[in-house]
This record gives sequence, C-alpha cells and structure tokens, in this order.
Amino acid sequence: MKKLKYERPIINKIQSGMPDKFGMSTRVQTISDVEGIPVVNIIKNYGSPTFVLSEQTIRDTYQEAREAFTTRYPKVQFAWSYKTNYLNAVCKIFHSEGSWAEVVSGFEYDKAIDNGVKGAHIIFNGPDKSDEYLAKSIENDSFIHIDHFDEFYSLIRIAAKSSKKAKVAIRVNMDTGIYPQWDRFGFNYENGDAWNVLNKIMLSKDLELVGLHTHIGTYILTPNAYGVAASKLAELAVRVYRKFNYVISYIDMGGGFASKNTLKGAYLPGKDTCPTFDDYAESITNALINSEIQPENLPTLILETGRALIDDAGYLVGTVLANKRLVSSRRATIIDIGVNLLFTSFWYEHEVYPVKEVSEQTEDTTIYGPLCMNIDVIREVIKFPLLQKGDPVIIPRVGAYNMTQWMQFITLRPNIILIDTSKNIHVIREEETNEVFSRQEKLPEHLS
Ligand SMILES: *Cc1c(COP(=O)(O)O)cnc(C)c1O
Repeated sequence: MKKLKYERPIINKIQSGMPDKFGMSTRVQTISDVEGIPVVNIIKNYGSPTFVLSEQTIRDTYQEAREAFTTRYPKVQFAWSYKTNYLNAVCKIFHSEGSWAEVVSGFEYDKAIDNGVKGAHIIFNGPDKSDEYLAKSIENDSFIHIDHFDEFYSLIRIAAKSSKKAKVAIRVNMDTGIYPQWDRFGFNYENGDAWNVLNKIMLSKDLELVGLHTHIGTYILTPNAYGVAASKLAELAVRVYRKFNYVISYIDMGGGFASKNTLKGAYLPGKDTCPTFDDYAESITNALINSEIQPENLPTLILETGRALIDDAGYLVGTVLANKRLVSSRRATIIDIGVNLLFTSFWYEHEVYPVKEVSEQTEDTTIYGPLCMNIDVIREVIKFPLLQKGDPVIIPRVGAYNMTQWMQFITLRPNIILIDTSKNIHVIREEETNEVFSRQEKLPEHLS
C-alpha cells in the first residue's frame, strides 16, 4: 500500500447558520471529467492549463433560452454577442442554431462576415463605428444601432452618399431601477434625447428606422428591470406610430441575463439566486404584449444574450504548482491558472475543484495563479483540501468573456479545445508560441 501523505491536524470552527440552516459544507466535491472525457487525459494531451468547451452544453443552453421566449412571444430572434466569446467555432455553433451576430467593432464585424453571417443579419452596436464601417454596414443592409448624436450626424453624411438607405435603430438608456444606471451608451429616455433623435431619424430621407434597442447592464438579477425597459421601448414605438403612422419592426432587449457564477460579496451562491430564462422571458414578453402596441404591429423581439448562454459550457483545467503557509498561517495553493486567463476572477468567486479523490479535511486556503504579480489571486479564501504539486484542478463556468478578455502577460495563452456532441475533441485555438509574438515585433536597425 502506498504510504499516505501526512497532513497536519487542524481544528475548524463550525460555521452554523452560514449560509442556510444546514451550514456551509466543508466537504469538497471533485470533478473528474468533462462530458465523460477525463481531465487527466485532457491535460496529458493538450497541456496544462487548457480551456475546454462543451458543444452540447452550448446547444442545450441556447435551446432552453430560445424556448423560454418562443413559447411566450410570436417573433423572437437571438443575435450572438461576439465580444462574449468570438472564437469562430463558438460563433458558428450559435449561427447554426439560428442566431444572428451582434458586434461592437470593425474587427468583430469582419469576423461575422468571415463566419458566413449575411450583412442583413448583423447588428452593429457600440460607440466606436468608423466612417468606413458605417458605409460598409449601409451597403450590406446591416442594422446600425446609433449610440450618440455625433454618430447620428456622421451617418446622415455617409448615408447621403449611398444609393441605399441606412437601416438604423437607436440605443436607449433609461431608469429601470438598476443602479448605477448605464447612461453612457445611447440616448436617454427620461430626458427626451431618445424621442428627439427618433424625430430626427423620421425626418431624414436617408435613414430608415427599423428598431429600438437597449442593454440595461450585465448580470442583472431582477427580471422586473427588463419589464420596465421593455415597457419604455414599447411606449416609444407607440409614440412613433401615433405621430408618423409608422411601425417599428423590432425591439432589441440587449443582453445582461445573469449566469450561475457567484459575484464577489454575494451572500448566496449564484446557482441558487440566478433567475431562469423563463423569469426573464415572462417579464419582457408580458411588457410587450400588455403594451399599447396593436397585435398586428407587434415587433420582433431580439435578444443579444451573452454570458448566460456560454458561461456553463466553459472549463479551465490546470495543475497545482506548490503549497505554502502564509505569515497569517493560512494555507496558500499556487496553480498554473492566473488572472491572465481567468479575467472574470476579478468579479466572480469562481469555484475550484480537485479532480481526484482527496482527503475530507479542508481548510481556508488562498488560491494564487502563477504570475509574478500580487493581484494574481483566483480565490481570496476557499475551503479547500490539501492537494499536492502536480495534482490537477478544474474551474467550471468560465465560458463567457475569458477567451476574449484574457491577457498575454508573462506567459503564452494555452490551447482551447471543443468537445463536440459525439464526444470528439477538436483544438479550436492553438496554444501560442514565442514565434506568434516575435512575428509582430520589429527591431530598429541599430539594435539588431
Ligand atoms: C456585452 C453586450 C451584450 C452581452 O451582454 P451579456 O451581459 O454577456 O449578456 C449584449 N449587447 C450589448 C450591446 C453588449 O455590449
């Protein structure tokens, strides 16, 4: 029999009443596989760390979301939020399910075109659309969501030169009871800016008003806020109809549905507090069908859901590098996954699990990443068992934003693999090499 590792005995205070009547479990679960593929095999074949995505989970989550809306409302269209995860394989999965593309830059716009999305199925958001891309969007019949008056005037100028009308919507910001209010994007509802720009658009011969858009924030835990927002957009649609006898074809409610991750400082785990797609759908669709919009004029409902559709499909697998005792006597475990890869650890308390069965004894542990930087903390404190150098770990729910906001800081970015619905594994983004970076650099003559 293999000699067991010595673990020093510790005394733990029982935290009864936290966070519910059963107390906080100090027993740590393990996660040994993703979709039946053992984590140890993933690490052996693709390296440590590796990002893992499950195609099945992406499709299941998308279908669940779509069903929540299509069972309540006649015309529904999703548009994949590229910035949430713009790996081509991921975008193509959403497009194959019927999603359009929602982009916020020229880079993302071209990516959508390269992914085979028709121009007329691209929604162009954000405060930064160059003249070149505004012209391109007009030519391609894309939906341009105007963010500010400067953009409106640029568009008037550019559209005048085109033989086509620009298909436009406005982004509207408003008080929905969620604070701080996101008023930096779009035109405000309460102060009249939104109504003002709508009138300007209706009087322009080169712009065609097609929609009303809002994106009230992100990780919104109160579905009712969406009901308030949808009512306000419906009210604008009704005013346009009364004044101009003109029907707006869509209302786009943006993204912002919460994922099951736990926000820092939250009292209860995200998986217990996160509203369901049905909760959000009920709130939004009720606001629209109960509005003054006539049934034959009901707009298409567009949703740009990002994190809630992809977070659960992503995992990071990695390895323990070392353990140490901090001066405070707290245990520290260093793993090879840092904030360079897990950018969302700045606002989420990510769950970290051992992959192999470990001792039942847990103690408060700080989990550090491998970077030479003090802020490289994955978990400030987590009840964690003693793992040894070389032991694998897995972090679930990392599919949203990490693969776009990650940093090439100190080290190279790893492989990303996709497990398809038949459990075949595909590398969908290769690990970076030094060559990737030297290719971009140029040495001045006198230094070479
Ligand atoms: C980021 C973004 C989304 C997606 O937001 P989530 O919170 O990830 O759902 C949708 N629409 C716009 C305009 C965005 O900027």
